[in-house]
Formats: sequence, structure tokens, C-alpha cells
Amino acid sequence: MLEDSYRHKGLRRKLAQTLKKKGIRDERIIRAIEKVPRHYFFDQAFLEHAYQDKAFPIGQGQTISQPFTVAFQTQLLEIEEGDKVLEIGTGSGYQACILLELGAEVFTIEYIRSLFQTTKAFLPRMGYNPHFFHGDGTKGLPAFAPFDKIIVTAAAPEVPKPLQEQLKTGGILVIPVGDDSLQKMMRIIKLNETEFREEAHDFFSFVPLVGKFGWKK
Ligand code: SAM
Repeated sequence: MLEDSYRHKGLRRKLAQTLKKKGIRDERIIRAIEKVPRHYFFDQAFLEHAYQDKAFPIGQGQTISQPFTVAFQTQLLEIEEGDKVLEIGTGSGYQACILLELGAEVFTIEYIRSLFQTTKAFLPRMGYNPHFFHGDGTKGLPAFAPFDKIIVTAAAPEVPKPLQEQLKTGGILVIPVGDDSLQKMMRIIKLNETEFREEAHDFFSFVPLVGKFGWKK
């Protein structure tokens, strides 16, 4: 049974304040962090880790991203109510919940089948209903394109072409690009069919993006 106590809510408010101090200015994101029960994504034995600002293993060598990273990527996306958002790397589903709290319609794709299955079964129990897909997200989701925003939550060696193509004009792609230890957070804005504006933000460390336009396994 999922329980969200006053203690959990208090810890969440504290976490949200920590993120504010670290530079998250968008109040809607702060409220979303205060709302989504991150401890639901943790095993009973590891509950005390849920509201620390750090990434945590979720099995299969994968992680639930650090709350600051989730908030930072979300802030760069400048989500507006009703935005159609593609997320590459569903993982635990926590990032998808934050996007849904901001009023986005979320299409999320996960490469590892067992993770896809677990998260697809779990998120609706929390009341969150993105569209779930299993497969190689580096190819995007051509059948559902174009997207207002695209977020990649794994480390890419370079920006996958299909993701640029599947972005609307004026759309924003946020993706960590670099080697296997450190990546620069890139924000790419589509100006028209052939031109993009690129901004480099801080450095982060993600698990690798695999697949056709990612790292080869
Ligand atoms: N967004 C997640 C969350 O909120 O918990 C964190 C994701 S975790 C840091 C990165 C995820 O990307 C992993 O679950 C991994 O299996 C997935 N992944 C890696 N390459 C992928 C690909 N080509 N397509 C879809 N998912 C991929």
C-alpha cells in the first residue's frame, strides 16, 4: 500500500527548497517536486534516500535521476500546458510524473523491457498516465511526431538526427552530450527545418544512451 505521510511531505518541501537554492527558479517545477512522492519509487529499505538530492539505482544498472537534474532539464524545456513532450529513457518514471504535473502530454520510451513493464504498471497506480513505449528512443517516435519538446535522460555521444527532425519549429530538445563519464547539457532550439540554435549548459553524469544513434553495446 502506498502511503504519503506528513513526514514525507515535509521532506519533499525541504528538497524543493534545496533545489531552489541550487538555482531552480521556475515555481511550477518547485511545486511539482513538492507534489510527486519520490519515495514511492524506492524500496522500503532505502526510503531515507528518497528525499536526498542524489541519483539512486533502480536495478538493471539504471538510475532514478538526481532531483536537481530532473528539475534542471525540465526548466530548460520551458514546458507549457498541453505541450506534446517526448522523453527518451523512462527509467523509474519520476521525470515523466514531473512533466505531467506541468500539464504536458508525455510520450516516454524505454529500451529495457523489464523496466518498461514495471514502470508502465506502476505509474498509473500513482495516478500518472503518460503514453508508454518500449524500444530504441534514439529513433524517436516518428508515428507521433512532431513534438513541442524532447528530453533525453541518458548520455548521448552526439545528438541523434531523428530527434532533431521530430521537433516542431520553435521546439526545444534537451540532451546530455559527451563521453561516458561527463556530459554537457545541451539545449537545442529548432529555428526552421535546417537551422538549430545550440546552447551548452552545466556538466552532468548520466548512464549511457544506447541504440542506433547512441552508444553501440
Ligand atoms: N528519466 C528516468 C527517471 O526519471 O527515472 C531516468 C532515466 S535513467 C538515468 C536512463 C534510462 O535511459 C535508463 O532506464 C535506460 O535504460 C534508458 N535508455 C538508454 N538508452 C535508451 C534508448 N536508446 N531508448 C530508450 N531508453 C534508453
